[in-house]
Order: sequence, then C-alpha cells, then structure tokens
Amino acid sequence: MKVRVNLFKKTDLSYDIEIHESANMAELICSDNFGLKYCIITDSNLEKSLGKKLLDQFKKQGANAELVSFPSGEKNKNLKTVAGILEKMHEFGFDRRDCVVALGGGITGDIAGFVASIYMRGINFVQIPTTLLAMADSSIGGKTGVDLKSAKNYAGTFHQPKKVYISLDYLDSLPKKEISNGLSEVVKHAILSDKEFFSFLEQNADKLLARDRKTISFVVKKNCQVKAAVVEKDEKESNYRRIVNFGHTIGHALEVLGHYEKYSHGEAISIGMIVESEISEQLGLLKKEDVERIRALFKKLDLPIKVSGFGTERIIAETKKDKKAVSGKVYYSIPARLGKMYSVQDDYGILVDEKIVKIALGRCT
Ligand code: NAD
Repeated sequence: MKVRVNLFKKTDLSYDIEIHESANMAELICSDNFGLKYCIITDSNLEKSLGKKLLDQFKKQGANAELVSFPSGEKNKNLKTVAGILEKMHEFGFDRRDCVVALGGGITGDIAGFVASIYMRGINFVQIPTTLLAMADSSIGGKTGVDLKSAKNYAGTFHQPKKVYISLDYLDSLPKKEISNGLSEVVKHAILSDKEFFSFLEQNADKLLARDRKTISFVVKKNCQVKAAVVEKDEKESNYRRIVNFGHTIGHALEVLGHYEKYSHGEAISIGMIVESEISEQLGLLKKEDVERIRALFKKLDLPIKVSGFGTERIIAETKKDKKAVSGKVYYSIPARLGKMYSVQDDYGILVDEKIVKIALGRCT
C-alpha cells in the first residue's frame, strides 16, 4: 500500500532590485508592506552607525522594528552566530508575519537570509546591501548560508529576498579596500558575460576606485542585470549558475586555508580567477594576452594576483573538499574566452586534470 503526497507546485518568487542614489530605506520598505514587524540584522561595525540610523527611520515611520547585530568578519559567518541571532529574534517576539532586513555587506546578507529561511521555517526578508560586493552580486539570487570551519558556505539554503533596496550613498563610507573587494566580483561578471564591459572596466578602473558616482552607478546596474539573468536561468544552480563560481574553487580553498582571516572573499577570488584563467589558457581556451589583461586589471584595482603562503599540494587537497567536488573530483567554472564561459555538452562544471591545476598554481606564485 502506498499513499502519495502530491507536492508539485509553481510559485512566483520574482522580485525587484531598486537602485537609488540616496533613499529613506525604512519609508520604502514600510510602503511595500513585507512584514508586520522588522528585524534589522547588521554586523558590529555598522550597528551604531547605519543600523541605528535605519532603526530610527523605521520608528519615524511608526513601524515596529528591532536591531540585532553580530560580530563582523568572515570568521563569524558560522552556525554559532546564526544560533545567537535566532535566540535574539525569539526574545524580541518575532513571528511568521514579520520580516528580516539584511543591512550590510555580503556576510550580513548571507547570514540574515539564512536566518530568515529557517526562523519558524522561513519568513520574509529584504536586502539592503551596503558594500559594492553586495550591491553587485551577493544580495541577488537567494543563496544564503554560513561557513563550516573547514568548508566555505557549506550550510545554507536558497531563500529569495522579497526585494533588494540599493542606495548608492552607502558606498560613501565604505573603506577603500572594500571597493576593491567588490570590484573583484564585478570583473568576474564582465569575464563571464561581456567582453565590452571588461574593456570598460579597464578604461575606468581609476574612476571606479575614486567612486565616481556616474561610473559606479552604471557598474552596479550592469552587475544586477548580469546576476539577475544568470539566476533567472538557473535559480538553484543545477548547471548554468555554476558560471558565477569562476575563481571560487581556488578562492574558497584559499579562504579556508587562511582561516577566513588571511584573505577577504574578494581577494581570494581574485587570485582564484587568475589561477583558473591559467587553467583555461592551458586548455587552449583563453588567449595568453587575455590572461595578462585580467592580471593587469586586478593589479590596477589593488587586488592580489599571487598565491603565497600555502603549498600547491595543500591548495589542491583543499579544493577536493569544496561543495562542487564530487568523490574527490574537482570541477571548475572556467572562461572559454573573455565574455563567455566554457561548457562541455552544455555542462558548465569542468573536470580539470590535477597536473594542469598544479601548473596554473605554479604560474601564480
Ligand atoms: P562584509 O559583509 O564583511 O563587508 C565588508 C566590510 O565592510 C565589513 O567590515 C563591514 O562591516 C563593512 N561595511 C559594510 N558596509 C559598509 C558601509 N556602507 N560603510 C562602511 N563599512 C561598511 O563583506 P563583503 O565583501 O560585502 O561580502 C563577502 C561575503 O559575501 C562572503 O562571505 C561571500 O561568501 C559572500 N558572497 C555571497 C554571494 C551570494 O550569492 N550569496 C555572492 C558573493 C559573495
């Protein structure tokens, strides 16, 4: 005897990414009505500044809101932090009808989104990205989660935000290093989707580092479009979405080996993209001069391009523990050329011979 549980369902998870020069975020969020009460989650660096300001804005709207913070930094993007936030939310009496507001960079977005996806089995959340990296990439697409000690982003969910609210003026207070970090994902989007955009970045690197508003505004919008198009095609990364992992197989290994402190995410994936471009070159895909263009662009953007401190063997061993590895076989997302990713029979996860990875790593030390 069997009893069938029919669960086929179609849901519309579509949402908007609003890009403003400057905006009262609480006013926008309250008028969208995504929750009865709002739980602003932010990191310890932003708690007293941007966090407090947003809380006051909510209060001025007559809205019910609380602020919950966690210690900043990738080394705190873990289950312990998540447990602490969940307990706090319960103490404040949040329930299913309420909404989480992720205010911060990619780390905050990943943690807050994950919390929203598991609190009472899932509640609404919205993103207010405050770093360039989060505006250009991480706030879009619904990948949420945290790291394990020895495995990056290993515990997580897919939970799409109800909306992404971008206000470019958040970038005014961002440390210079964080502009570079964000630009690493921006360059990635150019390499995987648009050769002309890559040239634009080469020509406008100085303006971007100087946060020229018109240039930054164009770049943020362009990146949102690129990321949205990838997510629309393959929300749960069954294949095509793998292209956004370019640089991440090596990058994640470096983050883990550096105990989430030696390299920021942006730095680790910059090195990762150079190594993985070298892999592509050896496979007869990217031209030598294009690998050099990528290297030169990262250098110009103050991003690291060399692997140092860990031996090749350790890095390779670490890649085998990556989420994308299957039975010790490591799959890479690599460019076919500038503006296009490589696939074999439409499969974007490319199995690469270890010897090739060793040579690529050797070219980057
Ligand atoms: P982050 O969140 O740590 O922010 C960087 C630093 O900038 C922090 O110290 C933060 O306190 C500070 N900061 C943020 N906004 C500020 C502002 N407006 N003014 C002054 N200081 C500010 O790091 P990040 O680089 O934004 O994000 C990296 C994370 O994003 C990584 O954990 C990575 O795995 C994740 N990520 C996720 C996705 C995804 O699809 N979910 C995609 C890419 C990256």
